[in-house]
Amino acid sequence: MYDILIKNATVITVDPSHHLYQPGYVAVKGDRLAAVGPMEELAEGAEAKKVIDAEGLCVMPGLVDGHGHGGHCLTKTLGESNDTQFADAWWGKMAEDIYFHYADEFFWYAEGALAAAERLKFGITTGVSMLGSTPRPDRVENLQAHFDGSVKTGIRQVSGVGSCDGPWPKTTWLWNEDDTHTERALTPEQMVETTERAVRELNGRHKRQICIVAPGSIGWKEKAEERDFAIWKNKEMYRIAKTYGSPLHTHLYGGGVQFVYDTTPELLEPTTSLTHSTALSQREIEIFAETGACLFHGPTTRANIKNRCPVYEVLRAGGNVAIVTDGVSPDRSYDIWRDMKVFQVIHRAHDNDPLLAPPGKVLEMCTIVPARALGMDKDIGSLEVGKKADIIIVNTRQPHLAPFGVMPVQRVVYHAQGNDVDTVIVDGEVMMEGRRMTQCDEKRILSDAEKAFEDMKRRLGDKFKAFSAYDQEALYSIRNKTMPSIY
Ligand SMILES: [Zn+2]
Repeated sequence: MYDILIKNATVITVDPSHHLYQPGYVAVKGDRLAAVGPMEELAEGAEAKKVIDAEGLCVMPGLVDGHGHGGHCLTKTLGESNDTQFADAWWGKMAEDIYFHYADEFFWYAEGALAAAERLKFGITTGVSMLGSTPRPDRVENLQAHFDGSVKTGIRQVSGVGSCDGPWPKTTWLWNEDDTHTERALTPEQMVETTERAVRELNGRHKRQICIVAPGSIGWKEKAEERDFAIWKNKEMYRIAKTYGSPLHTHLYGGGVQFVYDTTPELLEPTTSLTHSTALSQREIEIFAETGACLFHGPTTRANIKNRCPVYEVLRAGGNVAIVTDGVSPDRSYDIWRDMKVFQVIHRAHDNDPLLAPPGKVLEMCTIVPARALGMDKDIGSLEVGKKADIIIVNTRQPHLAPFGVMPVQRVVYHAQGNDVDTVIVDGEVMMEGRRMTQCDEKRILSDAEKAFEDMKRRLGDKFKAFSAYDQEALYSIRNKTMPSIY
């Protein structure tokens, strides 16, 4: 007797042999996949506690989003002003100011839930989040609050902190009951201690709570004293990752890859994920291939505006590349289906090749490839017997996807979007059915998010006006506006 049996579906397995079953079935026992195959191989009289007849629908592995930022769902859209009187409203400064000073534990909790709900409803069953824009590593309680919010939705949440980027010195604020705050200095030693404590103590507190080492960057610094500091930080992050068996997840751009390779090459390995990696040199492209470090490419990220990410050069050299959302601020979403499409458009346009980035490859880059880089590919990333039962059902019986059946992999990658995901199963539990989340009160998630946003707004006072300022005329103008910083 199975626990769940999904039958009569088009099953896209994303397994190593690229099996596609039409019609096919998927059977779940406990939290694992017990059987996957064509309908004619389903044992006669096979029974299950819950049977889902998915005729005309598409069954796929749960999607894996390898990179997003805790906090961003409550700061999205903000920080567009380029008026010099609002110098502190520029995106990067604004984000750090909010996350280091104005975000309390409830902010992190409410944002964690909102982000996880958004991801889950788009079919993402495993999501990686760095706490903050560059992480806020002063205390583990903020990260735990973020986990508390996210795991209650049913998602498999992989979150972490690590060393933050400069400039130093830094302060953090702790909010008191009476809406006053206490300022505290943040030291580099403290960020290392917090990272280690988080990985040691938070990992596994919930069965779908995975705490990893996630420094803001492991990049390159020109000044000698910053160079030594960067090397120290990198070594500490690596030490913690190795001590606790954590993958290492970070941002790293062109120049930085060479710096890390020259100074701490041990950091570059198959369970190291390097996000964005625009402006790579030819040598750095080769370094990706040589070391097996995985490039986590966000097709819709702003980093691509300044410099190109040579995805296909890395792939052709033999390197690994995953597609990530970089959700969600200032102008993105966790709809990874959108990133699949944008990925195809930008790289096809660059290479003038309409068949580049084929849909099957694209699906692997949102499932098994990031799973491997996170060291989780034995459990997730494809529909194979023995793996965790992380499954999505896409409603392909809709005008924009019908008639469904011919070239199904192309059909879903080209034409589906996040809202087409009807059912989400994680660990063998139905977390969404008919687009209704089963584990949590979606209205409550929204009202908590609204409250956290209002708290932030009130505490920001006049600063909020700067953060939300924009030029009404420019909003409808065709003239170019130069942003002081595009990150
Ligand atoms: Zn990022």
